[in-house]
Amino acid sequence: MKILLVSTPMGPLGMGLGGGVELTLMAILSALKARGHYLALVAAVGSELEAGLVDQLWLEPGVPQASWQHQKRESPVQIPADSLLARFWQRALGEQEAFDVLLNLGYDWLPLWLTPYFHKPLFHLISMGSVGEAMDQVISATATLYPQRVAFHTAAQAADFQLPNPPLLLANGFDFNQYQYRAHPQQLLGWAGRIAPEKGLEDAAQVALRWGWPLAVWGLKEDLQYAAAVEATVPKGTLQWRGFLATNQFQAELGECAALLNTPKWNEAFGNVVVEAMACGVPVLAYRRGGPAELIDPGVSGVLVDPDNIAAMAAALPQLLCIDRYGCREKAKERFSLEAFASRLENWLMQPTQ
Ligand code: UDP
Repeated sequence: MKILLVSTPMGPLGMGLGGGVELTLMAILSALKARGHYLALVAAVGSELEAGLVDQLWLEPGVPQASWQHQKRESPVQIPADSLLARFWQRALGEQEAFDVLLNLGYDWLPLWLTPYFHKPLFHLISMGSVGEAMDQVISATATLYPQRVAFHTAAQAADFQLPNPPLLLANGFDFNQYQYRAHPQQLLGWAGRIAPEKGLEDAAQVALRWGWPLAVWGLKEDLQYAAAVEATVPKGTLQWRGFLATNQFQAELGECAALLNTPKWNEAFGNVVVEAMACGVPVLAYRRGGPAELIDPGVSGVLVDPDNIAAMAAALPQLLCIDRYGCREKAKERFSLEAFASRLENWLMQPTQ
């Protein structure tokens, strides 16, 4: 197939501005490329991409979108002047005839609303749960008109939306060759993700404080005020800020951890970092909430505790540290390989869609 993918309009790829969508997009490109499809991508100017991953690339300039998850639920749809989002979809409209299908990776109102007006089938992989009324409405309306065109990562995420049919669930895929197994960790806990309130770093900081080990933190400081406020809640040295790293360096450092703590406050759609940790042999201690609760096999790749219960999380650490790290990686590989993801993607995109 000839597939036109449209990236997130949060900013250039490679800087972390798009959160987990950036890695998801790379996984989709690698998975579909390996199956021999012709791939074209529309992304923001300044994006960094591995050579040879796409056959055709349009890099558009423009002002990025504001993130939906940091607005009020009743906020209207906002499109700034000189909009990157508008440029993306103008490009997609103009180029659609040369493609069999289009795939949208952005969590935005405009492409969903445009679905009936494209000649070619336009598919959407929804990357977050419910964070705003306008998005809830357009996701539900699009899934009602075209039940096959809207897919989600996990059941917990999809349950946020009113859908006419059982949801299409794709999970996600990871290139396990990129993640090295680390048998021997340090006395170190880890946490990774965008540093923003919905990700709940403050709870992980408290668990680290109770346990007495430092907490290495990887990710983009999306909200500097929030990052400073979390730092102020624990003694100096509890948090080790490691910055936002490229995947190869990120996985090398992540493998040092005895455990990854995952403490989201929202209905996390998937949780890429959960699988990335497992891929290095690092078991994950997470709240029983959202995607991570579906990704972790309790006792094999991690442990789940009641949401927002810091004491329960600290108390569960001894059990977590007994998990066989090799078995943890193997379980994740069995469930989230790139090959299996490619099959799920093909089944979705290649079906008769009307
Ligand atoms: N990440 C990274 N380098 C880092 C820390 C994080 O590339 O130093 C990436 C990680 O690979 C993951 C993303 O940041 O893909 C976070 O995605 P996740 O699904 O965990 O949460 P989201 O940001 O989408 O809410």
